[in-house]
Amino acid sequence: MYYVSTRDKSLHYSPAQAIAQGLSRDGGLFLPITTPKLPADALEKMVQMTYQQRAQYIMSMYLEDFTAEELGQYAEKAYGSDKFDVTEVAPLRKVDEDTYCLELWHGPTCAFKDMALQMLPHLLTASLKKNQEEKTVCILVATSGDTGKAALEGFRDVEKTKILVFYPKDGVSEIQQLQMSTQEGNNVGVSAVVGNFDDAQTGVKTLFSDPELREALAQRGFFLSSANSINWGRVLPQVVYYISAYCDLMAQNAVQAGDPINVCVPTGNFGNILAAFYAKEMGVPIQRLICASNSNNVLTDFIATGRYDRNRSFYTTVSPSMDILISSNLERLLFLLSEGNDQLVADYMNQLNETGSYLVSDSIREKVQKVFTGGYASETDTAATIATMQEKHNYLIDTHTAVAFQVLDQYRKKTGDLTKTVVASTASPFKFCDAVLGALNISEKASGTALLDQLEQVTGVKAPQPLATLKDKTVRFDAWTEKEQMQSVVTDFLK
Ligand SMILES: *Cc1c(COP(=O)(O)O)cnc(C)c1O
Repeated sequence: MYYVSTRDKSLHYSPAQAIAQGLSRDGGLFLPITTPKLPADALEKMVQMTYQQRAQYIMSMYLEDFTAEELGQYAEKAYGSDKFDVTEVAPLRKVDEDTYCLELWHGPTCAFKDMALQMLPHLLTASLKKNQEEKTVCILVATSGDTGKAALEGFRDVEKTKILVFYPKDGVSEIQQLQMSTQEGNNVGVSAVVGNFDDAQTGVKTLFSDPELREALAQRGFFLSSANSINWGRVLPQVVYYISAYCDLMAQNAVQAGDPINVCVPTGNFGNILAAFYAKEMGVPIQRLICASNSNNVLTDFIATGRYDRNRSFYTTVSPSMDILISSNLERLLFLLSEGNDQLVADYMNQLNETGSYLVSDSIREKVQKVFTGGYASETDTAATIATMQEKHNYLIDTHTAVAFQVLDQYRKKTGDLTKTVVASTASPFKFCDAVLGALNISEKASGTALLDQLEQVTGVKAPQPLATLKDKTVRFDAWTEKEQMQSVVTDFLK
């Protein structure tokens, strides 16, 4: 099975090439030309397996130039007990008879990004070897918070890699900033940028497209690459946990093989929910995918009307990892639903670039609506949902997960559809103490790491170890840069 770009399927790539290159030269995203199907007895077989074995099994179906043994080793390393605080890795918690919560934040940085970013470094370094790349890769990341820390933790001390993260100086939570400024490892760098996330992101994109910089770095034995969710190596590890969740439902006798479920995902860049769509395409009986947004509800409108329109106000919300107006991974869905019409996809993406908007064909819109339902949660409803979940179910959830529960509630009230639903929980509530405490009606809030203690006292829930130990860590990175000077930060880092 080979891989193609969403904008030009005439060129064929091996999985290792697709992962090493990340983004296609034509601006498109790589995906496998066909989606593999699970054999009839696969789900039943996987019920008996550990999470690591399930990962190995599923990833083998997509990565033909990796041996099962290689993939097994990566899964053991990525999801070992030194990285994840529960042996299940992605445990499924029963909320009520119809609702299950898939906790994706038990990894080293307490957000779901770990599920992919613990795996990606193994896939990437192996891909580079397979492609006989001699240079050292330098991963550049612009982050609004979660991706940066997860990438730092994933790539720290990985041989033949370096990683440099830029975050907006006043744009991340206190806990997120501390997580990054205390990062350990000998190949890591972190710098704040004066400005907002867009400034950091634009700065990084400019560095990527600078041919002189590329040449200068090549002479020193480096090349630049990215770890954001346009890389197929980040989507694939996420497919695993949706299949794994269905197996766990079977193991708990909550469903019999073949029973339908719905899945509800708090969505930003469309990477996480796209992985759920792949699980469905592979044969997991997922009936409906509920796409939950915050006030930046560009996807809610797209699913309802078929028009994607980023020409709208941008809101800063309590669920910052979903404050996104361009959901890059939607491009992969358009390719899949148009049956691989690369010219059409390229055309939509050009329109998006030039006018900020495009309208898909009736046929694509109908296919989207057959599977997806969109909805969004206001700031007030998000806060109210955190409070209700705590009161009613004694279950503390973060702001992003609350958006999903709120949208699921709206969906059920509107449709009466009570199909068993898996809600993706994407971050530990302790990453967003400030907003969570606010939602629980605490107005006198502590600051810095004392926020963690306060949330523990108010709820009786223990903060995850990687956050609880932040207060004992030394700040290693307190430098900041003007956005015009980001290039010298890179060249100093790669001396
Ligand atoms: C990144 C992130 C999301 C959004 O995921 P996408 O794959 O971009 O849709 C949701 N919640 C949290 C906590 C995140 O870090």
